[in-house]
Amino acid sequence: MESTILKERKEFIGYGKASTIKCESDSLSGSVSQRACVYCGARVVLNPITDAFHIVHGPIGCASYTWDIRGSLSSGSDLYRNSFSTDLSEQDIVFGGEKKLTAAIDEIVEKHQPKLIFVYATCIVGVIGDDVEAVCRLAEKKYGIRVIPVKSPGFSGNKSYGYKMACNAILALLEPYKNIPGTQGVNILGDFNLAGEMWLIKNYLKEIGIPVVSTITGDASHDSLVKAPSAQLNIVQCAGSMTYLAKKMEQEMGIPYIKISFFGVEDTSQSLIRVAEAIGTEENIQKARQFTKNETDRLKSFLDKYRKNLEGKKAAIYVGGGFKAISLIRQFNEMGIETVVVGTQTGKAEDYEIISSLVGENTVILDDANPAELETFIKEKGADILVGGVKERPLAYKLGVAFCDHNHERKHALAGYDGVINFTKEINLSLNSPVWQYVNK
Ligand code: SF4
Repeated sequence: MESTILKERKEFIGYGKASTIKCESDSLSGSVSQRACVYCGARVVLNPITDAFHIVHGPIGCASYTWDIRGSLSSGSDLYRNSFSTDLSEQDIVFGGEKKLTAAIDEIVEKHQPKLIFVYATCIVGVIGDDVEAVCRLAEKKYGIRVIPVKSPGFSGNKSYGYKMACNAILALLEPYKNIPGTQGVNILGDFNLAGEMWLIKNYLKEIGIPVVSTITGDASHDSLVKAPSAQLNIVQCAGSMTYLAKKMEQEMGIPYIKISFFGVEDTSQSLIRVAEAIGTEENIQKARQFTKNETDRLKSFLDKYRKNLEGKKAAIYVGGGFKAISLIRQFNEMGIETVVVGTQTGKAEDYEIISSLVGENTVILDDANPAELETFIKEKGADILVGGVKERPLAYKLGVAFCDHNHERKHALAGYDGVINFTKEINLSLNSPVWQYVNK
């Protein structure tokens, strides 16, 4: 089995407790990474802004990444469901695409009167050297709206770099509002309102009396985003994509941040209590303690009922960021399921430190895995289920193991206490489906 692991990849793979692995590097040439490109990373972060226009400056193929293959929901505008592309062809590559980009911006302004446009520079734009920044600057001057370039050629790094470019675009949007007067409440960073998860979290915060100033970027709008600099605290759910923005907002706007996670009973409860302790009154803290206790009690009998079906099973986890992997390991522990393989696309050294402290001696830990490695270790460790995203689903089914989609494509909430119910039911149904008895492994 070891023969399927490339020599240069070995330092990205560790075993069990106290293992340290290499991470936060570009993918190895010749190893087919499960990561998406820089542009896709940027689009993941910005697409949920519901009244923004997204112009993909590049060939039409780059624009195939649309709202319809993600699941962020809106309580207002649904403009973000549209995609716009300059559809660059050979002639534009030879003579330059700036005129086409200007025409695309003009057309959107004329037809839709937008407040906010993002322009994504894709690979070919990075190669031919269109001055996207200058085109955006001129459009901002001409129309008095925000037209923000997102420097995201696919070859300019890895998916994490795309997150950073998206955060820079948000910072550019917030720049004129940096010194607005402060207000009570938090910004939620790194939740994308998949299947309405942001609404669940906002309801929990409401229960404990903590106001939400702005959400970045799930169910956000131009007008809600620009209020973000007034908040007391940033709470960061998807640390992989948003820690950079949180740090910048701390430096430039004086807003401190804490990392939280609303996946699993334990993490959700701890997060709510920590938020109350960070900015709340004694009353908020008491409310948080009482609310989380009530919810934990409510779920206890439910989880006990399912535990007997799940105990002793083995799970493999391969997800985008470290925070989700950490929460999933804890959730599986609560269910009596052992995590035997765990990896992420963009985990950081501190994430892997926590991961290695939570797993058993023989658990395989991987950064930026390729399908051959996942196959090798899923088989070697005898995993019964793989939790991942759209790119991992076919791998699980080809190997004859159960699968749970924990990525942006899903249509049901997995966050918060209600998400625990959905997640447990899905894991149980998938793991204990009668179909697996007909599979020859
Ligand atoms: S790698 Fe380049 S060409 Fe491919 S989708 Fe990303 S930006 Fe477009």
